[in-house]
Amino acid sequence: MPTSLYTGRFAPSPTGHLHLGSVYTALASFLEARIHNGLWKIRFDDLDTPRNVENATVSILRTLETLGLHWDGTVDYQSQHLDDYHAVLADLMAQKQIYRCQCSRKDLTNIYAKTCRNLNIPAETLHSLRLKTDERQIAFDDELQGHISHNLTQHSDFILKRKDNIIAYQFAVVLDDERQSINHIVRGMDLLNETPKQIYLQHVLNLPTPNYLHVPIITDFTGHKLSKQTLATAVDLTEPNRVLFQLLEWLKQTPQPELQNAKADEILTWAISNWNVARLKGLKKIVV
Ligand code: GLU
Repeated sequence: MPTSLYTGRFAPSPTGHLHLGSVYTALASFLEARIHNGLWKIRFDDLDTPRNVENATVSILRTLETLGLHWDGTVDYQSQHLDDYHAVLADLMAQKQIYRCQCSRKDLTNIYAKTCRNLNIPAETLHSLRLKTDERQIAFDDELQGHISHNLTQHSDFILKRKDNIIAYQFAVVLDDERQSINHIVRGMDLLNETPKQIYLQHVLNLPTPNYLHVPIITDFTGHKLSKQTLATAVDLTEPNRVLFQLLEWLKQTPQPELQNAKADEILTWAISNWNVARLKGLKKIVV
C-alpha cells in the first residue's frame, strides 16, 4: 500500500507576536515533520476576526524564519476559504445534521441541553448553528498521551457557527486539515479535549482522521500556561540560537551545553538528527 507523505502543520491564530510557548509547539511539530522527511505547512487560523491583531501574521512569519523554521508551500489563511465552510454548513443543514439555536450564553449550563434541537428556530432569528451529536464513544491513540476515550454526551451538540456569524474553530480546523492534506497533527495539550469533537466531525463529513500528538504545555511556576493571556512576552530574536537551545531543553532533548554558542542553523541540524519525541512521554506540563 502506498504510504502518504507525512504532512504536518503549525496553525497559529494571528492574535499577536509569537511567544515562547507557541514557538515551542511550532518547533515540536517542525522537528516531527523533518524527522519523518515530511512536509511542514503553515496556516493562519484567522477566522475569529475580533481577536486578530494587525500585522501579527507578518511578525509570526518573521519569527519562524529567523529561527530557521522554514515551511513548505504557500501560507494558508482560513479567511480565504469562507465560501467553503458555508457550503459545507448548507449541506449539513440540508441533511438535518445541524440546527439553529438561539440560546444565549447565560441560558447555558455546562453541558448544552439540546434545547433548540427540535424548535425549528426561524432563520431570521439571531442564531448559532449546532451539530447534532449522539452518545457514541470517541476513542483515539495519541502518540504521547496514549489512549483517549470520550463519550460525546460530555460535549453535547456543539457549535459550528457562532451567533456573530463566525465559523467555530472546531469546524474550520477539520476542513482546513483536510484541505491541506494534513495527516499528522502536533499541538499543545490544551487542545486534547477538543480532539474527540473534531474526530466526530470527521466521521460526519466522511473525512480521514489524522494522527494526533499533543505535547505538554509550558506553564510558569504558578501553573499558568504561557500564553498571550498571561502576557508571555514576544520571542527575543536578537539571539535565535539561544531561543532554540532553550526550547530544546524544554522539549527534553538534552542538548549538550557547548551547543549553546553554535549558530541557529547548526542547532536545528543537531535537533533534527537527535529529535526523540518520546522523551516527552507521560508529561502533561513543563514548568519553566
Ligand atoms: N489556532 C489554534 C491555536 O492557536 C491551534 C489550532 C490547532 O492546532 O488545531 O490555539
